Amino acid sequence: MAQRQLQLNRVAGGAPVATSRRSTRLVPGRTALRVSAVAEADKTAAINKSGTSSVPATTKDIENKLRYLFGRNEVSTPNDAYQGTAWSVRERLIDAFNKTHEHWKKEDPKFIYYLSAEFLMGRSLTNTVFNLGLQGDYATALKELGQKMEQVAEAERDAALGNGGLGRLAACFLDSMATLDLPGWGYGIRYKYGMFKQALKDGYQQELPDIWLTSGNPWEVRRDDVRHMVGFGGRVERRREAGGREVAVWTPAEQVIAQAYDNPIPGYSTPTTSNLRLWDALPLSEFDLAAFNAGDYDRAMLARERAEAISAVLYPNDSTPEGKELRLKQQYFFVCASLQDVLSRFKATHGSARWDLLPSKAVFQLNDTHPTIAVAELMRLLVDVEGLEWDEAWGITTKCLNYTNHTVMPEALEKWPVKVMAKMLPRHMEIIEVINEGWTQWLSAHLASELPAPEERAKRIAAMSIIHENPWNKEEMLVNMAYLAVVGSSAVNGVAAIHSNIVKDEIFNDFYKIFPSKFQNKTNGVTPRRWLAWCNPELADLITQQLGSDAWINDTEQLTALRTHASDPAFQQRWAAVKSAKKERLAGLIKRVWGEEVNTAALFDIQIKRIHEYKRQYLNVLSIIWRYKQLKRMSPQQRLQAVPRVCVIGGKAASAYDMAKRIIRLVTAVGSVINADPDTRDYLRLYFLPDYNVSLAETIIPAAELSQHISTAGTEASGTSNMKFALNGCLIIGTWDGANIEIAEETGVENVFVFGVRAEDINGLRKERKNFKTDPRWDEIMRDIEGGMFGDKEYFKPLVDSVNNMKVGNDWFLLANDFAAYLDAQQQVDECYRDQAEWLRRSIMYTAGSGKFSSDRTIRQYAEDIWHVGPCRPPPAAGGQQ
Ligand SMILES: *Cc1c(COP(=O)(O)O)cnc(C)c1O
Repeated sequence: MAQRQLQLNRVAGGAPVATSRRSTRLVPGRTALRVSAVAEADKTAAINKSGTSSVPATTKDIENKLRYLFGRNEVSTPNDAYQGTAWSVRERLIDAFNKTHEHWKKEDPKFIYYLSAEFLMGRSLTNTVFNLGLQGDYATALKELGQKMEQVAEAERDAALGNGGLGRLAACFLDSMATLDLPGWGYGIRYKYGMFKQALKDGYQQELPDIWLTSGNPWEVRRDDVRHMVGFGGRVERRREAGGREVAVWTPAEQVIAQAYDNPIPGYSTPTTSNLRLWDALPLSEFDLAAFNAGDYDRAMLARERAEAISAVLYPNDSTPEGKELRLKQQYFFVCASLQDVLSRFKATHGSARWDLLPSKAVFQLNDTHPTIAVAELMRLLVDVEGLEWDEAWGITTKCLNYTNHTVMPEALEKWPVKVMAKMLPRHMEIIEVINEGWTQWLSAHLASELPAPEERAKRIAAMSIIHENPWNKEEMLVNMAYLAVVGSSAVNGVAAIHSNIVKDEIFNDFYKIFPSKFQNKTNGVTPRRWLAWCNPELADLITQQLGSDAWINDTEQLTALRTHASDPAFQQRWAAVKSAKKERLAGLIKRVWGEEVNTAALFDIQIKRIHEYKRQYLNVLSIIWRYKQLKRMSPQQRLQAVPRVCVIGGKAASAYDMAKRIIRLVTAVGSVINADPDTRDYLRLYFLPDYNVSLAETIIPAAELSQHISTAGTEASGTSNMKFALNGCLIIGTWDGANIEIAEETGVENVFVFGVRAEDINGLRKERKNFKTDPRWDEIMRDIEGGMFGDKEYFKPLVDSVNNMKVGNDWFLLANDFAAYLDAQQQVDECYRDQAEWLRRSIMYTAGSGKFSSDRTIRQYAEDIWHVGPCRPPPAAGGQQ
């Protein structure tokens, strides 16, 4: 891997970054500098080990890929260039992948298997080229073909096989595992249609299918030799074996094939290239020819359609029973295929007599409850298929599995009706019943001295039972998947310190009291490669120059050294120049989407994340409305003193989440009033940027100066975009929630705009809500919305009602309680922004304080405390590029 060192001044095609348009009137003391590091481009023509340039060969390779795979003789568009480049890079990637896996096969280390229903990977080209250290070659080769790397990269479609933070976390974890040389694979589903594409129609969210695979996917390898059968439904019979042992025989009613696709994951600055194995569902037989010949064309296609539905879409709408069943099917599908896959490799190496060795060779991490059926499936495979005794199998299962909780929202803690489970997975339902019997019996004995009264004890046991009544429908019994995960795992972890405490003290408190050492915290992190080095190369170069090396990319604790420069005016100016350049770029995007110019000297205030009531985009809009009203009341003279803002909100609403869709409409409606008002448009803008995804985040985050993380305290498990923003020197306005708390601790609480009620007060405040006296400014804004100031008043009425009508349960997320404190915090933001030296000092302090939030740190902690897995690095390839 001779080429793996980070090269400065990468790409950029030689264009100096535009000087920011400066507003004399608004932000005094701010000078725009050129980003000198970026201006000297093109020193990157790669020289390989033998000292000769490999560029001509790369250029030829790009052309050849385009010619022979696509039948095109000329690289004439960025899309051509993307296809040629991607298929060329793929070969280097596969070489690295094969070498890594040869090495791992030989060494047979313990492996981590990260089971996740979602992997939000985003684009791969830039990340692969940079992680493999090939940027010099490819940037120069593309230049020779008249293309710019940046534009070429934008021709790639995002792999959006995830909804939000949870799926993106899985993607960051894969990057870190490979970078740390940890033998580990991700396992998930190759959804044919990923997260829907969001468009706006008259200001309302529109959902369009995400057809991401149409022009092929250079980043995957189909493994025709890796297929497993997955069954559903049918019946279970008992059979007595020769030795007298009774075995359960499950005969599924329906079977599909899980077809493996491997997605190589390159580590950075290491030869290690690991794997994300995704499963596609195929029918057992391609086609029912008999039905076709009989003229029944629909039936001929039916099996195919039924099978393909399983891996068709990410999280189908689960508001109908049919949708729910499909989701359980998806979960079992990928878990069953993944476990069979791991066990078959284990058997190939260790035979089928040494299952006791399995926990020293394989550890599984369940990313939330979605893969929890693994508890029952591993038991089934060991007991029914491999013939182990129940107790031995249970010992192995609980040693191999670990569970990460990601949410405190009760509606997101999965519970499957016993009826649904018994129909779709009859053998698993039996297994879960046996597990639960053993569990409740054990509990009964364990609690005998603590709760001697049988009634008390029965109550506690019922509360901890994996199978329990549906509290809303006494007729129905439910399987509580989170409880199954807790009982079936070695370790259970939350994803930020406060969240892990809530996991211990509230969600699983009864379990925590019995197994205190099972519960851990692993504060989330993000990969500093994608989220700083590759998405903000200008800032990365500045940091590298200041620190004298780029070693911080793999050791983010080194960023701490920036603290000593936080108040240095010269450094601040260079820092500001990078931010200005990124703001210009975001302004260009706003122009493309909305056709309007924005003042790039204004404060760029960003809130991008899934739209949800608990994340409180609504509260943000209310404060923007208040700001607007205040500006309206000012004289033109007074307005000159105001700090101008460009507010950006982005995020998708789940297709069945009505209230979230109304919030989006409120953003666009308020935006169209504000942005068109000649009195205020120089001081305040609000834009909704549609189709928030990883690539959009990579453009927006480097440009952000203020970002909003304003969830009701105690509701956001961690948040990870807060870490991405902080890493890029963006200040945070936020509640004392999730990882905001740890970010504030690392950055200095005085540098963060913290406001609002604390988690420990939430329950009391909710009960007291009917006696709460709302702020007069709040009442005024509510009257404005109700009165039609932003149009659509009928449509907004449920929004207004949801936070006002003081019956119990309304304003569940306490917007009114936090409103005044939030406006105060916004005032402090304005004051701070007026003092640019102070603002820049804080900005630098955020990046300097981000060392902890690298997913490398998170993964090291998982590896040490939960997985007990060490690095296994393949030797560097002799000679050549790698
Ligand atoms: C990081 C990220 C998220 C998570 O954002 P939060 O603000 O932490 O909820 C969601 N979506 C995308 C595309 C991301 O990159």
